[in-house]
Amino acid sequence: MMNEEIPNFTAFDEAAFDSAFAALEKQARADAAALNGEAAVEAFRLKWLGRKQGLLKEISERWLKAAPPEAKKPVGARFKVLKELVESLLLAEVLLDSEHDLAAEAIDITLPGTRRLTGAEHPITRTLNEITSVFAALGYSVGVGPEVETDFYNFECMNFPPDHPARDTQDTLVVAGQDRRPRRDRLLLRTHTSPVQMRTMELQPPPVRIVIPGKVHRNDAADATHSPIFHQVEGLCVDTNITFSDLKGTLDHAMKALFGPAVKTRFFPSFFPFTEPSADVQISCIFCGGKGCRKCKNSGWIELLGCGMVDPSVFAFAAEKQPAYDPKKISGFAFGMGVERIAMMKYGISEIGQFYAGDMRFLGQFA
Ligand SMILES: [Zn+2]
Repeated sequence: MMNEEIPNFTAFDEAAFDSAFAALEKQARADAAALNGEAAVEAFRLKWLGRKQGLLKEISERWLKAAPPEAKKPVGARFKVLKELVESLLLAEVLLDSEHDLAAEAIDITLPGTRRLTGAEHPITRTLNEITSVFAALGYSVGVGPEVETDFYNFECMNFPPDHPARDTQDTLVVAGQDRRPRRDRLLLRTHTSPVQMRTMELQPPPVRIVIPGKVHRNDAADATHSPIFHQVEGLCVDTNITFSDLKGTLDHAMKALFGPAVKTRFFPSFFPFTEPSADVQISCIFCGGKGCRKCKNSGWIELLGCGMVDPSVFAFAAEKQPAYDPKKISGFAFGMGVERIAMMKYGISEIGQFYAGDMRFLGQFA
């Protein structure tokens, strides 16, 4: 195939060589100047340097090889110059192209960066850890247990006898299909963290000092202050000569550690099946300092947790596996508090559902 850009020489003299090669150099520069994009650069390479149909190949065939012997040297020298020109034009285009790529990938360091979200403890986890660490500082260790419990651990050994009305205070979610099992083996979702008291005592003779943080379940309708799933921290202290004044001193210290040294506590008689005597603990209102406000219903006090001296019948259950829990020789106290309630007070939250909604606008405030 003859290429029209390459005329045949009519005369093999210097002037003819100069004008022929000058025309080709001009053409090569013009082609290179018009290049745009990677595909065009490749087309340029094929047009000029292609092994089969490239212009240089054809020039070599038709001008160089066909030249008479005396013309081979001047044609060859000009051919070499042209070839180097084409190669350098191609190289320049390739470099320019990669520069374009780099420019496209370049990062503008003056723009604001992509901000990563800061990880943070959930307010419930944070409050739970705060409560736990107050008692850890008093020498308490942390006890854990299953959320799916047996009737025995959740109720019976905590001195809720079968069919006793005390069970009605904790509306319970039970696992279906358990009717054929003995009552005490039937499974339910634990309604309090108290079963871990018994599980710990069965494994470990006195003295015991544990706090039990964990999730509990009750068949309660959700409203502003109730949720069917919530968290408790329970505590148990058993040793010789543990008295009610130990209980008062421990909880008074804990409330001051959690809410500030100005907080006062007071104890009212109450009832829990697993403690005798039992008490409700109130703290002086942290919002008004005890003067009376909307949050404390103008009483100046807020009820926060339950407690009491461990009932001897609970120790009797523990003594079945650990005889050292003889109610005549040892004594102890237990207490329990709702983590959500404390977190709501500490952070001024009025809707318990906000803890579980996963709303980043809410959670972001704790980052
Ligand atoms: Zn108040």
